[in-house]
Amino acid sequence: MAMSTKLSSFRLPPLPTIGEIIKLYNLRAEKQLSQNFLLDMRLTDKIVRQAGSLRNAHVCEVGPGPGGLTRSILNAGAADLLVVEKDTRFIPGLKLLSEAAPGRVRIVHGDILTYRMDQGFPSHIAKTWVDGPPDLHVIGNLPFSVSTPLIIKWLESMANRSGPFVFGRTRLTLTFQKEVAERLTASTGSRQRSRLSIMAQYLCTVKNCFTIPGRAFVPKPDVDVGVVHFTPLARPQIQQPFKLVEKLVRNVFQFRRKRCCRGIEMLFPATGRLEMTEELLCRADVDPTLRPAELTIPHFRALADAYSQLCAENQGLIAYDFREELKEKRRGRSGRKERK
Ligand code: SAM
Repeated sequence: MAMSTKLSSFRLPPLPTIGEIIKLYNLRAEKQLSQNFLLDMRLTDKIVRQAGSLRNAHVCEVGPGPGGLTRSILNAGAADLLVVEKDTRFIPGLKLLSEAAPGRVRIVHGDILTYRMDQGFPSHIAKTWVDGPPDLHVIGNLPFSVSTPLIIKWLESMANRSGPFVFGRTRLTLTFQKEVAERLTASTGSRQRSRLSIMAQYLCTVKNCFTIPGRAFVPKPDVDVGVVHFTPLARPQIQQPFKLVEKLVRNVFQFRRKRCCRGIEMLFPATGRLEMTEELLCRADVDPTLRPAELTIPHFRALADAYSQLCAENQGLIAYDFREELKEKRRGRSGRKERK
């Protein structure tokens, strides 16, 4: 009984519905900003449940818009909710919500791509990396044009323990276009296995929680939406700098239908390219005939370790980028033509 009284104390008082808020503040979705709203509270509650218990937790919600997901986060018992919204039109509606939950909502009018989340929460909530995750969650239903660059940026922050990860292994619950959600969680050998699968899975446990059909959003986007949950691993599966892993993985997947050795070759300058590729594959003990999608995370770990050794032995190798070499060649050719 005491428990249910406590839970009910988190719940918001009666408020206008999200549909009414949209009408009241004339919050027409901006197609250019890919704004698609969730008005069904059963769905927003379901997204919030994927984050785990939010009772008394600190939460950062990215892109709250008219506030459907925001209400579910508050109803789940978050004690401190920081919302970061780029579009000014939503601020008055969010203020109304903050008045209904006194002392529990902080509103930031800003861009999540540049917002300093490391400064958004008190340092006492931080846990060491090997401890369990801190009582801080990041939750958001963002436009797809933002969620993909944002997760790439946050994976790097995770590797460097910066941004949301200065507080420890902060968990993320975010929406993506269904295909991107599938790529993030794709297993070895699957059609969706890609650069994003490796970069996410070497650093976190990634779970594709459920799919929301496009028709659940207002206005309806052309695609379905996947809800993905990320928990950073206490020990990343690859112990090399993020930039080195990113370069290796980008090169391997650039010829995704060819054998993996084809992409690996491009890590090395034209002179000695084949010998260096053979040396790398031999040191990593990886079969050159495997396709990129067939490589496991341990394969990538062995490749990253061997590539790091080769970089230490060959000055300038880490900075080598075959695209720069191509550009140089093109410039040389057009220069020669002009002189003729
Ligand atoms: N969370 C709301 C919902 O589920 O109904 C709104 C979702 S709508 C797809 C995305 C929201 O993110 C919009 O309110 C938009 O203004 C906001 N947004 C877009 N880009 C942003 C950015 N870079 N930083 C913060 N908010 C952003």
